[in-house]
Amino acid sequence: MDERLHQYCPICGYHLFGGDSTKAIGSMCLHVSYDICECCGCEFGLDDTPEYRAEWIANGFEWLYPDKKPAAWDPYEQLKNCEPDWNKGWQDYVHKSTD
Ligand SMILES: [Zn+2]
Repeated sequence: MDERLHQYCPICGYHLFGGDSTKAIGSMCLHVSYDICECCGCEFGLDDTPEYRAEWIANGFEWLYPDKKPAAWDPYEQLKNCEPDWNKGWQDYVHKSTD
């Protein structure tokens, strides 16, 4: 897997840097950061999986920090920034680097 740069949460598509387009984080850095997404609440490296995304969607797009939620917020618009194969991506990477 290429070390890609991310500006958005790969699970929910929330901007990780408050909309600051000059900032980005590499895939593995994000995965091992154990940071928690303010929107979907996933903890990177633990539950940043497509299954978590599906559950988040099924539970009605609940925000970890509801006060961060914009007034006119469209979860489907935000989900366009997410990465469907995020889980597969980093698992392949970890597997390759431990061979
Ligand atoms: Zn998120």
